[in-house]
Amino acid sequence: MDTSELHNVPRNTGWIEVVCGCMFSGKTEELIRRARRAEIAKQKVVIFKPRIDNRYSARHIVSHSEQSLTSTVVDDASEILALSENAQVVGVDEGQFFKANLVEVCEKLANQGKRVIVAGLDQDYRGKPFEPMPQMLAIAEYITKTLAICVVCGNPADRTQRKTQSADRVLVGAKDIYEARCRHCFEPPSE
Ligand code: ZN
Repeated sequence: MDTSELHNVPRNTGWIEVVCGCMFSGKTEELIRRARRAEIAKQKVVIFKPRIDNRYSARHIVSHSEQSLTSTVVDDASEILALSENAQVVGVDEGQFFKANLVEVCEKLANQGKRVIVAGLDQDYRGKPFEPMPQMLAIAEYITKTLAICVVCGNPADRTQRKTQSADRVLVGAKDIYEARCRHCFEPPSE
């Protein structure tokens, strides 16, 4: 749920929102939507993404449907603290590509009174929890799970099927390498 839709929006405190789901479920679009609404309300918004994600654009976060927002690329979550000093809203895209310290960085930001929005994959291509997103879910006040549509059967989909044999956990790409599948149609790779 977007906190801007709550009847009781938190006051005098920060908080953490997590938007998670599989690929093609609209996570980045949802992050962009929330960030845009905050900007329209004249709040200072900064968006970060990890360096690993070089697809489409280096200085923007871009959803698969090509909505975009200016963002800053960082090598490590610790860089976000200094770069967020004047911000009221801090967005993080591709949270699953950060290290475990993303959790403490987001805690610090929220404790400073900022609204923190983290988008990311909650499962890897094997259907296993994708750290540090499970830890982010545990400490977040608000959680949105976005679902895609299974390309095989049309059911709501929460898994990312890899269409190649690679066993690298991180293999950046889009429609040529991955597709969304439901629990029933998902075929986990052989161990
Ligand atoms: Zn299916």
